[in-house]
Amino acid sequence: MPAFRTVRGMRDFLPKDTERIRHVEQVSRELAQLYGYGEVITPVVESYDLLAAKSGEEIRERMYAFKDLGGRKVALRPEFTASVARLVATKMRNEPKPMRLFCVGSLYRYDEPQYGRFREFWQANYELIGSDKPEADAEIIMLTNDLLTRLGLRKYRFKIGHMGILRGILSQEGIDEEQNSIMQLLDKKRWEEALTVARESGASQNCLTTLRKVFEIRGEDASDILKKVEKSVQGYERAVAAVENLREILQLTEENVVKLEVMIEAGFARGLEYYTGIIFEPYVPEIEIALSGGGRYDKLIELFGGEPTPAVGVAQGVDRIVLAMKKQRVPSKVAKERRVVVIPVNEESKEKALQLSSKLRTAGLSVEMEVMERTVSKALSDADRRK
Ligand code: AMP
Repeated sequence: MPAFRTVRGMRDFLPKDTERIRHVEQVSRELAQLYGYGEVITPVVESYDLLAAKSGEEIRERMYAFKDLGGRKVALRPEFTASVARLVATKMRNEPKPMRLFCVGSLYRYDEPQYGRFREFWQANYELIGSDKPEADAEIIMLTNDLLTRLGLRKYRFKIGHMGILRGILSQEGIDEEQNSIMQLLDKKRWEEALTVARESGASQNCLTTLRKVFEIRGEDASDILKKVEKSVQGYERAVAAVENLREILQLTEENVVKLEVMIEAGFARGLEYYTGIIFEPYVPEIEIALSGGGRYDKLIELFGGEPTPAVGVAQGVDRIVLAMKKQRVPSKVAKERRVVVIPVNEESKEKALQLSSKLRTAGLSVEMEVMERTVSKALSDADRRK
């Protein structure tokens, strides 16, 4: 037999690494309860058409898609939002709004494996459905901030933008269909190519100049940056409204969160096609890639056949949060639980040892019984070795 290995891009998690993943999951779940998000479990395998509907070209091309034995075209989920949108448009369509939903689990994308990018990874996902008000956006940002703080991360910063700024400018120029390809180029910071597509789609000279200005506006002082953006997008009413919306959200957030570090980038776009409002990504200084990704997507539920329903949500990248915790040397658990070994000293005491182990577990201790018939001294030195 050949020595089997994991498939490229797939990982085994040994107990220590699993503990870290589960710890992040557990804190995410506790937070969901504290904020009133009900947990749902949706299938890993979904219909290809559902997942392809609005994931964005890039993710679509990287899906693990195949025919099942019944000939159905299916895929492993590359994100949670499509599944949640399906739920809201179907089984939960009569539930009162707002709806707060949480889910956590593994996702699959045929990405090129590299630091922080895997083919199987975990997300903790929060969706707040039914409100278009800025306090809903503020809640999602606060919740993300809360999660990172509770996990012990430090010096993280939120990169923030608003899809309404760019989309507002383009819509007013009559550019609709090409918007998503422009956003994807911007997501990759390919500014010039994005401008070329805009030009080829009929953007006016004024539009191109405005976009170019907007791409350059970024900084840590939110009110200063927003003033600059507002000035640059004069004449594009929807873009002006988007800036005002962003201002409101940030004011609400600022009033409630202990000093949020932000970096506002007017030309920031995210690759997923469905974002319509604020978008954000938290970063730690030690790692160049985003820990999570969130934003407002007011058109998505409709797309899956539901009533027009505004929504805002965030996907916390569990694996990258674990990487950040390791970089910042944050322990995965505050205190180790109490652990005990029970060693039968001879044949007759085995039964007693099992009984005692059982009693100690009932009392809440973690108990490992000696099952190798080793001498007491060997069993003890093994216990020492395993701390
Ligand atoms: P997205 O669903 O693309 O908006 O990504 C949201 C978050 O999921 C990112 O910020 C990452 O933390 C995480 N994520 C996305 N793709 C991957 C991947 N291939 N490997 C690990 N984490 C990922």
